[in-house]
Amino acid sequence: PGGAASNKTYVIYSDNAFPPYEFLDQSTNTYVGIDMDILAAVAKDQGFQYEVKNEGFDASMGAVQAGQADAMIAGMTITDARRETFDFSEPYFEDGQILVVKKDSDAKDLSDLKGKQIAVKTSTQGAAYAESKKDEYDLKLVYYEDSPTMYTALKNGTDDACFEDRMVIQYTIDSENLDLKTVGEVLNPGDYGFAVKKGTNPELIEMFNKGLANIKANGEYDKILEKYGYQS
Ligand code: GLN
Repeated sequence: PGGAASNKTYVIYSDNAFPPYEFLDQSTNTYVGIDMDILAAVAKDQGFQYEVKNEGFDASMGAVQAGQADAMIAGMTITDARRETFDFSEPYFEDGQILVVKKDSDAKDLSDLKGKQIAVKTSTQGAAYAESKKDEYDLKLVYYEDSPTMYTALKNGTDDACFEDRMVIQYTIDSENLDLKTVGEVLNPGDYGFAVKKGTNPELIEMFNKGLANIKANGEYDKILEKYGYQS
C-alpha cells in the first residue's frame, strides 16, 4: 500500500439496490457488488480507511452536496450538468439507459407510449432522459426513490414503462426472472465515476485514480468484473 495514509475514515455513500454495482447479499446481510469491491480494492491499494452507507442514489447525491458524505460510488454517470457540483474520478465503467416495459408489451419506443405513465428514479439519468422527452410524447412521469419500487410499478401495471441503466436491468431480469424486457438501443451511453462535492477531498479523488490504475494493471479490476459475470 502507498498513498497518503492517515487516520481519517472517509464516509462514502452509495445506492442500496443497484445490482451488480451494489446490492444486499441476503445470506451475509452485507452490501456487495462491483462498486463495493472496486472501492475496497482501491482503499486497500492506497491505504485509506472508509465506511460505506448504502442509503440510495438521491440520498447519496444529497449527502455529498450537504457535506455529510465525503464521496459517493453508486453507478453514477459522469455528466456536464453534474460537473457543476461534483468532481469525478477517472471513469471506471461504461453504461447507458434503456427503455423497459412488461414482457407482453408491444411498445418499441417512446412513440408507442404517448400519453402513458413512465416510472423514473429520482435524480438519475433515466429521469433526466424522460424529462427531456416529456413534452414531445406527453409523458406522465412518476418518481420513485429506488430501482426495485420502480420495477414493481411496472410489474403490477401502475406505470407503463421505465428507464434504467442497461446492465442493471439486464442483471435483475436474469437473476430475479422479472416479467420485464428492454426495448431499443442504449440511450445516453456514459461513464461511471466516483464523485466528491466539487472542490472538496481532492486527495481522495487522486487516491481513487491511482488505486484504479493499479488494480487495472494488476488484474484485480478484471477479477471483480468476472465475479459478477462480465467480460472486461
Ligand atoms: N447511472 C445512472 C445515473 O447516474 C443511475 C445511477 C443509479 O440509479 N444508481 O443517474
